[in-house]
Amino acid sequence: MRIEMDTAVLRSSIRDIPDFPKPGVMFKDITPLLAEPAAFSTAVDAIVVSFGRGTIDKVVGIEARGFIVAAPVAYHFGAGFVPLRKAGKLPYDTVAQTYDLEYGTETLEVHADAFAPGDRVLIVDDVLATGGTARAACDLVEHAGATVAGLAFVIELGFLGGGARLDGYPYTSLLQY
Ligand code: AMP
Repeated sequence: MRIEMDTAVLRSSIRDIPDFPKPGVMFKDITPLLAEPAAFSTAVDAIVVSFGRGTIDKVVGIEARGFIVAAPVAYHFGAGFVPLRKAGKLPYDTVAQTYDLEYGTETLEVHADAFAPGDRVLIVDDVLATGGTARAACDLVEHAGATVAGLAFVIELGFLGGGARLDGYPYTSLLQY
């Protein structure tokens, strides 16, 4: 689903950092967006509007920048917030999902009791790039007994084709590059 909105305030508040964290990567820095009141509230509201109140029980934020956007989205939904973290960070019993990166693997974890059976979950992150992280998040939420209602990203790097990894799951991105 693509929502119609004036994205100029959002687009003008994304800072491109070349060669970060390694050569060849154009890092999309959302900290200017977070610091600009109109941009931050527009981004949060746009995600809430694109799914609609009453449709989401839990909002999952992916460590770490996903937390910042997911928490106010959860508040506006009247939903709970669930952190999805890198291995070894969560204190209680966890469910884990390992996925491939360009070099090596990464593991995401969620608390084993984070969801009630059938909870409708919205997964939120700052950037959809290759889609590996988002797909692992979907698998993890399902292994933990909940239902993925959709995903939302501030930025989608369309040239990396991450959307194709999310076939079957509704998702929205506020800015496409
Ligand atoms: P991917 O699994 O390739 O879709 O990568 C998504 C994750 O990596 C997200 O959690 C993003 O925060 C981060 N990420 C990947 N590429 C970028 C980028 N160009 N700028 C900022 N964050 C990125």
